[in-house]
Amino acid sequence: MLDLVDITKVYRGGHRAVGGISLGLRPGVLGLLGPNGAGKSTLMRIAATAARPTTGRVLLDGADVTARPRPLRRTLGYLPQDFGFYPNLTAREFLSYLAAAKGVGARAARVRIGELLDLVGLGAAADRRLGGFSGGMLRRVGIAQALVNDPRVIILDEPTAGLDPEERARLHALLSDLAAERAVVLSTHIVPDVEDIAAEVAVVAAGRLVLRGRPADLVADMAGRVWEAVVDPVALPSIGGRFPVVRSVRDGELVRVRLVAPERPLSDAVPLQAGLEDVYRSAVAAPAPLPGPHPTPGAAR
Ligand code: ADP
Repeated sequence: MLDLVDITKVYRGGHRAVGGISLGLRPGVLGLLGPNGAGKSTLMRIAATAARPTTGRVLLDGADVTARPRPLRRTLGYLPQDFGFYPNLTAREFLSYLAAAKGVGARAARVRIGELLDLVGLGAAADRRLGGFSGGMLRRVGIAQALVNDPRVIILDEPTAGLDPEERARLHALLSDLAAERAVVLSTHIVPDVEDIAAEVAVVAAGRLVLRGRPADLVADMAGRVWEAVVDPVALPSIGGRFPVVRSVRDGELVRVRLVAPERPLSDAVPLQAGLEDVYRSAVAAPAPLPGPHPTPGAAR
């Protein structure tokens, strides 16, 4: 469906936000995980043709859309981190406006918008002005606008930001249904946002794709490498320097640390069952540094 081929993005000033990422999108939910600043939004904008890559290509069914974005835009649903809206329009008016802009016929749009507003739990607020909506409600309008043209490729940048647990569960159910026939990409820095619904996860760190796979396989690979130890707080920096620390919580005078290590890291460490959070933390703990724009191998310091 959609293929990102060796994408790089260097912003003005020379900052390399994406350093050569290839990613194929197929039906199913792909969870794009990475810490803030990893390059996820940049990559999503490029996939959605809202930004151009510095080098690399975006292919829809094999055809390059970098220079001719129209075929992709027609079949794309995109929720950017901040989407523009008109506060004086009602939710229904706003979606009708966008549907018309995307070439959806008026009658089909009317039916679809009614269904979508119900799906995102905004049926009762459909005729209220967006200016009075809460952040969570606006996010749900944003999700609805991404689906208004019945897209084959759905790109959602941090869609769960501002949603409460119930809204998040509803979004997950909706995306799982849609993903049977559509490629859905959901970017986030929060592992639980994707662990129940993603058929695959891709982890991005410092502009690089550092890991990709099915959650169950990645977790299975992590078996036997997750440990818990109770340590003195003063030991924490040195432990954190040696092992990826997944979590540390205060336990009285001591600290209970969950960490990843190939072998028992401390004599009293106990093994834990691995989870996707462990996979993610260890993947982003030590990303390979990006080569600078002017590498000078062997240069004296
Ligand atoms: P993420 O979505 O993973 O948080 P971003 O793609 O937003 O990451 O950002 C990646 C890096 O690129 C960050 O260091 C960010 O500061 C930088 N960046 C993002 N957008 C711009 C821009 N328009 N101009 C310059 N630098 C940018």
